[in-house]
Amino acid sequence: MRPEAVEAMLPFMTEVFANPSGSHRFARQARKSIDEARDVIADAIGCKPGEVVFTGCGTESDNTAITGVIRRTPGVAVCSATEHHAVLHCVEHANGVVVNVNHIGTVDLEALQAVLSPEVTSVSVMAVNNETGAITDMAAVSKIVRRYAPQAMLHTDAVQAACWIDLRTIWPLVDTMALSAHKFGGPKGVGILVVREGKHFEPIVLGGGQERDRRSGTHNVAGIVGTSIALSLTDQNRKTEVARLGKLRDQLINGITSRIECATATLASGTGIAGTAHVCLENLESESLLYLLDEANVCVSAASACASGAMEPSHVLAAMGVSRERIKGSLRFSLGHTTTESDVCAAIDATIAAAARLGAVTS
Ligand code: PLP
Repeated sequence: MRPEAVEAMLPFMTEVFANPSGSHRFARQARKSIDEARDVIADAIGCKPGEVVFTGCGTESDNTAITGVIRRTPGVAVCSATEHHAVLHCVEHANGVVVNVNHIGTVDLEALQAVLSPEVTSVSVMAVNNETGAITDMAAVSKIVRRYAPQAMLHTDAVQAACWIDLRTIWPLVDTMALSAHKFGGPKGVGILVVREGKHFEPIVLGGGQERDRRSGTHNVAGIVGTSIALSLTDQNRKTEVARLGKLRDQLINGITSRIECATATLASGTGIAGTAHVCLENLESESLLYLLDEANVCVSAASACASGAMEPSHVLAAMGVSRERIKGSLRFSLGHTTTESDVCAAIDATIAAAARLGAVTS
């Protein structure tokens, strides 16, 4: 977490630990802090404060945007094959349509167009993929959806986009957008669903009517305040961080692919965010690589982190048409605001050493 976010949260777990829905002075103070946080967040997104709905996580934001829309406006739900399971499972649950992707794992625009019709009421396309870091051309997606399914609500999972792409360029293209605070230096357990004014869904968490009846439940005041500080800092530093980390990402990918014979970059340069370096070490086991890297103090992932901690073959790489041999040895390195050049050099050395130990040819 960003230290500034932690610091801003602390008073709300001590002196101002009041329920913002109450009416005494501490409650009013807590409510005022939520209002201020909402303004700061809206500013970083380029939306109206009233369009910001606080939820419990990115998963809940995605679930609400898809299931909530389908309940309100029954019809066909559509999403791309490489979505996070928070989207994919909702669309599958609604017997929706999953659209193929291209070689970089973003939605195939022709295939998308082919499934759109007046019966489609929900379309979900992620702005940035969480495994590979591939960036979707949301302007192209939006154009097609508006033309071929004009009544559909267009949702984007921008959970992995917030650090790397100005959200003001994405928000005008969609009707709903999901964010998650722990991806940009905020706390875990705070999600945001941005909902365009005048667009409606059936709430999926019912109760006390918080968030103007769109999401019930007592507000996580400390979390919301920390989220606003983290998003505001992310927004202010984004340009310099993208430039700095983009160079480090290239250095990391080049260092690994030039010195380990079986290693290749998963995405072509220029198609992904600065914060993800995804490589495949053909025929090595990513589980063994992860173990050796962890011993060398380098913490990386293979496919997406699964709740059981078990390795599951990546549905993202499979949908992209990556061979089984390459999927087996896939590694995802994540870079963030605390990553330095010496971290990257250490990661390169440790990966070469781990690959050599598993029998790969290295130089
Ligand atoms: N969507 C994407 C693209 C993600 O990467 C994640 C988390 O990794 C989620 C949704 C879920 O967010 P949360 O962990 O806040 O539920």
